[in-house]
Amino acid sequence: MQVDFIVIGSGIAGISFCEQLRAHHKTFVVFDDQSQQSSTVAGGLYNPVVLKRFTPVWKSKEQLQIALQMYLNFEQEFDVKLDYKIPVLRKFSSLEEQNDWFIASDKPNLSEYLSVNLKKNTNKNIEASFGFGEVLQTGRIDVKVLMDAYKKFLLKDSRFFETKFKYNDLVVTNGHLKYGEIQTKNIVFTEGFGINKNPFFKDLPLLGTKGELLTIHAPDLKMDFVLKGPVFLIPIGDDHYIVGATYNWEDRTHEVTLKGKEELLAKLNTLISCTYKVIDQVAGIRPTVKDRRPLVGQHNVHKNMFVLNGLGTRGVMIGPYVAKQLFDFMEFGTPLESEIDIKRFQ
Ligand SMILES: Cc1cc2nc3c(=O)[nH]c(=O)nc-3n(C[C@H](O)[C@H](O)[C@H](O)COP(=O)(O)OP(=O)(O)OC[C@H]3O[C@@H](n4cnc5c(N)ncnc54)[C@H](O)[C@@H]3O)c2cc1C
Repeated sequence: MQVDFIVIGSGIAGISFCEQLRAHHKTFVVFDDQSQQSSTVAGGLYNPVVLKRFTPVWKSKEQLQIALQMYLNFEQEFDVKLDYKIPVLRKFSSLEEQNDWFIASDKPNLSEYLSVNLKKNTNKNIEASFGFGEVLQTGRIDVKVLMDAYKKFLLKDSRFFETKFKYNDLVVTNGHLKYGEIQTKNIVFTEGFGINKNPFFKDLPLLGTKGELLTIHAPDLKMDFVLKGPVFLIPIGDDHYIVGATYNWEDRTHEVTLKGKEELLAKLNTLISCTYKVIDQVAGIRPTVKDRRPLVGQHNVHKNMFVLNGLGTRGVMIGPYVAKQLFDFMEFGTPLESEIDIKRFQ
């Protein structure tokens, strides 16, 4: 078999890159062994503002434009619902915070995202006496539906291998790549935290931050927006809500923990007063980088090996944006932005 590309990983990064390949009529196959869970468990929120500090997300406008178009194209082609437009309300915990919000909403790069209308709390099951600020242009991508639909689509054409990619079996001769029966011109690694086992790119400084989420059933809550307090509370339908997430820089396992659950419940209990039942808990490792920028680029020796990683805490927005950059770099020679290029670490 001869293909233009082999892609390792089918999380948000892998899918985003494959969508570039499809748009440009390239042939490819994908390997995924489900060894990483970040995209599988992700809350799927997209939100152009850092809500701790009231600052804009890096390249928020460009990211949203490319990402939302990709999800829309996918919805139309595959007849699935991915993009749930839903407001994010940031709970204020003091008058000072309200004031900070209004100052921020006046700044040119934030004014389109921060509503100047203070929202009063009208839900008796939510604790928010100082009200909320509303973030605009927000929503949730159902990443699980995206991943399932993508896998099904690729399997139909025998382009998806549900198996571990064994790095040692990749034969590199005179710039040609061969893996078993598959010959390819290029290989793109999108393995998330799994990159630490990749002999070609494992020296890149990917940290990894474990996150845990709960799903609760809260029939009395009746909340139709995303609530941001000490945790996010995200409605996903049928009175179910995602509660998350934790941030852990020491534990690099995929196991859920009692500590994670207790931390989330303690924070949740400061936000809502109605009864609820925990019905699920999941964990994954976010591919985070110290300088909070993705890891994108070309191997310094093997010029047909590429990496797309480091999507961090905001894969839904940033994945499609950096996938396009990588493709344009490979195909058209468009230089990568220096902030995302792995050359900054070499
Ligand atoms: C708890 C939690 C909540 C989050 N919530 C949000 C959110 O609300 N919004 C948001 O934008 N982001 C969120 N994120 C972050 C987001 O999930 C990540 O940015 C994104 O999923 C990273 O995608 P990825 O494709 O780079 O990595 P991954 O999702 O880890 O995908 C890598 C894939 O590569 C495969 N792989 C690895 N090695 C191999 C190998 N050798 N052979 C074959 N396959 C291999 C893995 O099985 C995996 O499927 C959250 C993350 C966590 C953990």
